[in-house]
Amino acid sequence: MQESELLVRRIKEGTVIDHIDEGRGLQVLAALQIDGRDGSLITIALNVPSAKYKKKDIIKVENKFLADDDTNKLAVIAPRASINIIKNYKLIEKRRVSLPNEIDRIFRCANPDCITNSFEHIESVMDVLDKEGRVLKCRYCGRVLDVNQLKYN
Ligand SMILES: [Zn+2]
Repeated sequence: MQESELLVRRIKEGTVIDHIDEGRGLQVLAALQIDGRDGSLITIALNVPSAKYKKKDIIKVENKFLADDDTNKLAVIAPRASINIIKNYKLIEKRRVSLPNEIDRIFRCANPDCITNSFEHIESVMDVLDKEGRVLKCRYCGRVLDVNQLKYN
């Protein structure tokens, strides 16, 4: 077992999000709307030494199995993340994140005049124009958005 895996305790059931780009762990929590309010045990490790890429963040959420729909949103924030589903201490599924064709709700459009930024409470919808380059476009106002400058809803 790698040294980094020992930093956070093993979980019996749940989801481990590994290989999050360093410094992005808290954004990942925000994007997935994981705040621990439901009482689930959440372990966050930031800046963990990693063999592949100097450092990484890791999140473990116990008793929760994250669906593809949710985890694919992470491709915007942490394109190298891997999702590990654990049952009875065993890794039963490992998947990479891949950008979906559209991303709903989590990001705010950069255009201040966009209807999604008004008081209408319209949730943002963004089409993914370029999966490799991670280019998004607001479906409402057509603004092309840089994923590195997106703000969270
Ligand atoms: Zn817009």
